[in-house]
Amino acid sequence: MNRLSQAHCGLARRALRHHASALVTFIPGITSSATHGRLFVLSGQSLCVVQDGRNGARIPNGPVPDQALYLGELEGAPCFAWRLDDAECGPPGTHPVALRQLFGAVSDEDFGIAGRALALTAWDRDHRFCGRCGAQTERSRLERVRTCTRCGHGAYPRLSPAIIVLVERDGRALLARGVRFPPPFFSTLAGFVEVGESLEDAVVREVKEEAGIAVADIQYFGSQPWPLGESLMVGFTARWAGGEIVCEPSEIAEAGWFAPDALPRVPPPKLSIARALIDDFVRRRASGPSGELG
Ligand SMILES: [Zn+2]
Repeated sequence: MNRLSQAHCGLARRALRHHASALVTFIPGITSSATHGRLFVLSGQSLCVVQDGRNGARIPNGPVPDQALYLGELEGAPCFAWRLDDAECGPPGTHPVALRQLFGAVSDEDFGIAGRALALTAWDRDHRFCGRCGAQTERSRLERVRTCTRCGHGAYPRLSPAIIVLVERDGRALLARGVRFPPPFFSTLAGFVEVGESLEDAVVREVKEEAGIAVADIQYFGSQPWPLGESLMVGFTARWAGGEIVCEPSEIAEAGWFAPDALPRVPPPKLSIARALIDDFVRRRASGPSGELG
């Protein structure tokens, strides 16, 4: 989460103040003439890394293949990505490790860049042919788009916005355990925004659908790119306005109202806007029921 571009600053200021450390700036880019660089090589949902000690891992450096996708620069070092075919091997000395397992094993900056690499190489692979006329597309050298060589139609990387919300009632927070992910975490409610909805509409609908609760006083909290999907999480706080918890069984295994000093097991800190929302709730409640946001 220290990978702070301007888009992350809201969350950084409000929710991750306690993580404030040196801000390392990643500068996105479209093209580079570099022939060597840091290589974010993907094999399915895994990243090829050099094992470094017991739990550590690092991103390999090396010559840049022709088909590599330039991502940008981290502290002056050019970063490239590509995706291996099924039978291909990664750079010498590397092993594929599931991206989820790399959280904490590589720096937050590299974890964030790996998320970009995952999403952008998927986009690059999935838009080799025009969705409108079927002809081949090619990468633009000016912006992040693949353009049809016949009709000119452009395919940009696509983001799916999702809302995530901490609902509060009389000093307690609504937390739920989803059915799709195994235990043990309770977390805030979240869901994708549907076509035609505002973010606030999506908050109201998701909380009603998943927990049967009506909400009011919806306040923006911060946002976070979701590194393991082509998504953007937009965080909110809201106040209970009516209804008792009724879980949607296809989504939620159990849910409840939790006091700040009696929380269930919640997601680990850093990189998780869910945890930032919960930490913010605890902090506000610790400073009294009238504690202000942010
Ligand atoms: Zn076309």
